[in-house]
Amino acid sequence: MRSSRVRERVLQLLASHQAENLSVEEARTLAGRILRRGPEAVRVLFDCLFDESDPNTHRLAVLLLTEMNEPAVLERIHELLHRPQLPEKVRVALLAVEALHEGSADATHVPPGLSDLSLDSLLQFTENFWETMELEEITMMWRENFSAEPPDDRLCLLEALMKSAHPKMLGVVRLEMALNDVKILQFLAEHLGQFRDPMAGRLLHKMLDHPDLVVRTLADQSLARWRKQAELPHPDASGLPALRFYRAHMATDDWSGQYSLIYAVKSPDERIRFVVVLLDRWDRGIIDCWGCVRYSIEEFERLLVTMSRDFSNLRQRRIAKRTALTLLRKAEALNLERKHPLPLEFAIWAHLFEDERFQEDPAIPEFGVDCGICQKPLRTGPRLSPPWVFGKMVVCHHCSGRVLRCPTCGGSTTLAECLLTREDSHGPIDLRCPHCFESLQMSR
Ligand SMILES: [Zn+2]
Ligand SMILES: [Zn+2]
Repeated sequence: MRSSRVRERVLQLLASHQAENLSVEEARTLAGRILRRGPEAVRVLFDCLFDESDPNTHRLAVLLLTEMNEPAVLERIHELLHRPQLPEKVRVALLAVEALHEGSADATHVPPGLSDLSLDSLLQFTENFWETMELEEITMMWRENFSAEPPDDRLCLLEALMKSAHPKMLGVVRLEMALNDVKILQFLAEHLGQFRDPMAGRLLHKMLDHPDLVVRTLADQSLARWRKQAELPHPDASGLPALRFYRAHMATDDWSGQYSLIYAVKSPDERIRFVVVLLDRWDRGIIDCWGCVRYSIEEFERLLVTMSRDFSNLRQRRIAKRTALTLLRKAEALNLERKHPLPLEFAIWAHLFEDERFQEDPAIPEFGVDCGICQKPLRTGPRLSPPWVFGKMVVCHHCSGRVLRCPTCGGSTTLAECLLTREDSHGPIDLRCPHCFESLQMSR
């Protein structure tokens, strides 16, 4: 008796919300309200996954389960995923929930039997799936569930998914380009021409620089096909939403040479997507990045306040778009130059900014500097002590630790005690002994 009342109440709650208008915070609140009603209430959400008669409740169930960080919910998802007669739509919805689940990083395993997943039926779920998820969420799901699978298995899935040429698939293509399996890239180069979205054209342009001749040739042919498609009038407006730059913020500490950058864009529905990138200007370029979609403007503002509290010693401030783009461009160039691989997550979020044209901000300092004393490239990393900064000069951890002996007075000293002078920021450094003020030579 009581359980049927709970069920009724949850269904009423679902009916009074529209999945597409739900913000992150609203989803969280609603998920909390349902959780408090007990296991029976959560079971209703799982039942809704199986009921395709109402697309709104189906979508809401996916969204709300994603917000439920409960071991019991994840357990139930695993249990269902192992059911042999699970409808494919439900399986994929559950995989999506699992992939997007916070804290799922340690619970991500592809359930056995996934490779037996019928590819044709995988295609059938698409409509609902594509509508529910944002491009970045689909890419994250690919990253978490499939990127570690053998290339042949991924190729099988890609062959099925690319048939629909849904523009939200382009995020997965960008990620696969970062994974750089030649066989997969050849397939993608051949098939990107059937997409109409400008992003497909940009990805094909990138492939023209690929070292593999077949990838380049196929990309070139596809590009011609894509151009013809793009000229035709669009039958519907099912393309990707136009994203516009919204805000950029930066927190930095001049001594560490690291920047935490927030780059946010707005879609026509006034929702914010943003990426947070951690940069190291001495050596490692882009170290880490993560992002979010579907934030309301108010939620984003609140997040900024929280972050500036967390980084209170790092002077978080709003910066111009071109300043942010200069930082990102210089950092990425440093990754390439010093052969530090970009984090795979970068491929999920790079489309938010990588095609923007801009004039470099001259106020951004040099990236990839050499040690001011030994002139060797600075090295940074979690196990290395950070370089020392003296005005515009930076000294590597090796040089800063050396004990120096003065040839004039015989006293020993360290770099920290020496007096440093320099004619200009690029000229040689003059070290003077703190005891006798004579010039010290440092061997390289
Ligand atoms: Zn050095
Ligand atoms: Zn001396």
